Amino acid sequence: MKRRDFIKTAGTAAAGTGLLAGTGGILAGCSGKKAGGPVPYMVNTMGGARMKLSFEPYELKLRHTFTVAAMSRNTTPDVQVRIEYDGFTGYGEASMPPYLGQTVESVTSFLGKVDLGRFRDPFMLDDILTYVDGISEGDAAAKAAVDIALHDLVGKLLGQPWFRIWGLDPGKAPDTTFTIGIDTPEVVREKTKECADRFNILKVKVGLDNDKEMITTIREITDLPIAVDANQGWKDKDKALEMIWWLKEHGVVMVEQPMPKEMLDENAWITENSPLPVFADEAIQRLKDIPSIKGAYTGINIKLMKCTGMREAWKMLNYARAEGMKVMTGCMTETSCAVSAAAQLSPAVDFADLDGNLLIANDRFEGMTVEGGKICLPDRPGIGVVPLG
Ligand SMILES: [Mg+2]
Repeated sequence: MKRRDFIKTAGTAAAGTGLLAGTGGILAGCSGKKAGGPVPYMVNTMGGARMKLSFEPYELKLRHTFTVAAMSRNTTPDVQVRIEYDGFTGYGEASMPPYLGQTVESVTSFLGKVDLGRFRDPFMLDDILTYVDGISEGDAAAKAAVDIALHDLVGKLLGQPWFRIWGLDPGKAPDTTFTIGIDTPEVVREKTKECADRFNILKVKVGLDNDKEMITTIREITDLPIAVDANQGWKDKDKALEMIWWLKEHGVVMVEQPMPKEMLDENAWITENSPLPVFADEAIQRLKDIPSIKGAYTGINIKLMKCTGMREAWKMLNYARAEGMKVMTGCMTETSCAVSAAAQLSPAVDFADLDGNLLIANDRFEGMTVEGGKICLPDRPGIGVVPLG
């Protein structure tokens, strides 16, 4: 059989097996043989379609000035990504809070180097994302944008949302925390009133001099449980532990990144003596970082923009579970695109901090929603988002 005839026949056979037939290409590697003659792989079933990546900068406008221990800001730089393939479009996003060290320029420069045309179809997630990861050392948010768009695309081609592909029960999606930024008592009181009826757990940024004032101000309005994030803001371990005991007495249920990430022993000491679970955020980026903090924290905060996306996030979640660690998932200020991607794994976490889309004024997608304080995953394929407008 001539090569051209073989490809034609193989393509027809593949088409008969449905959407997954596109993965038939990997069968070539099963035998491990490299016989002469035609390469025995099937062309994709989509008439030679190739993935096309496109992207555009999109500045996120914050509803309120965002203040954490280190700084405050009103916008977040962001790049929106699309991967098109045979009439389907996968959406992704890179959000770049300044402390991550990535910019619109660095992300667009990275995306300009990504050549998806070298892959026959989107189903080879492992090969494609290994290639993308290998393009540079860092660029986690840019890599996450490609990863999210690719997962969205593959989910759409399979006709299933990722929570289902991963085998998760959407009914187990947790409450999301809602963040109240550091501010004057008047503003904190106002913000708390606005959200106390809509959420079941609040998140408070601490780590400055007014930690107790923040909590007591909120306690004037509501008894809702509170998660606190010190963002490395506490510098003395004894004072930090004393504060954690005080926070526990005031209805706080968990603590995130109490001290600077470099102070591993101090953070470990706090975890050992803390009455509340202690989560690593700044101290952990990717899967490879977990062994280095094992034992120093109760759990880890997985964020797609830090860890390069959904594929690595899923691996981290399972690794952490195997090590007996708790898991939370968080986000940056993002549109509903990246937040809905992270929400796909939320049924498997202990805490979810997925309010990034609620903090911006110019969302571009309809996706996961919060109803009665709980994350609701839409029963739409991929990451479950629909572009607005
Ligand atoms: Mg944090």
